[in-house]
Amino acid sequence: MNIILIGGPSVGKGTYASKLKKIYHIPHISTGDLFRENIKNETELGIKAKTYIDKGNLVPDEVTIDMVKDRLSKEDAQNGYLLDGFPRTTAQAEALESFTKIDKVLYFTADESVIIARVAGRRICKACGAIFHTTNIPPKKEGVCDYCGGEIYQRPDEQPEIVKERLNTFQEKTKPVIDYYKEKGLLAEIDANRDINNPKFRVIEDCQEVLDQLKA
Ligand code: AMP
Repeated sequence: MNIILIGGPSVGKGTYASKLKKIYHIPHISTGDLFRENIKNETELGIKAKTYIDKGNLVPDEVTIDMVKDRLSKEDAQNGYLLDGFPRTTAQAEALESFTKIDKVLYFTADESVIIARVAGRRICKACGAIFHTTNIPPKKEGVCDYCGGEIYQRPDEQPEIVKERLNTFQEKTKPVIDYYKEKGLLAEIDANRDINNPKFRVIEDCQEVLDQLKA
């Protein structure tokens, strides 16, 4: 089951993916996480990517496509994956088609005001990448990751003015990718204007409804 998770910045893709990977036992592959890992390790790729990421711009296609192609060739991705944050341009979508087959695209939607409020409280673990939120998903101990004890921080590209730039980039570059998959009949829209921890809401159940049909 090869699945793409697509949606505006901080719509919650990473949080949903970390729940879905446990249900379907397939890896969560996030290009943002891969870049952040490279930045942390100060690799050549990381140093290059940082100059774009810090401004809220996209990393060039060639670099990103090669990184994803390499990651999808790994053993753990051979029985399916949840690809989060890629493709973000039509050139990336076309390239992806040349080396893998996509079964479904989950498109998470949320109002801009919801995204901006959500992102203000978002924190991640420097060590393992786990996602928290100051009010919606607070860690048990402030500043400390529940899972690995790592330090929790706010991403530099989650400052309000950078988030605005990322929203513009999404409208301009990634919206055409959504139309691309819609035309192919692969798109399923999921309403993410909701709080994942509120049992009244069914974001994960909505995803499961779509994905279970693939298995049937
Ligand atoms: P994310 O964690 O998915 O929000 O990604 C963080 C940042 O990494 C983005 O704002 C981009 O600068 C960069 N990035 C992630 N995925 C891609 C991609 N597919 N193409 C280009 N840049 C990307």
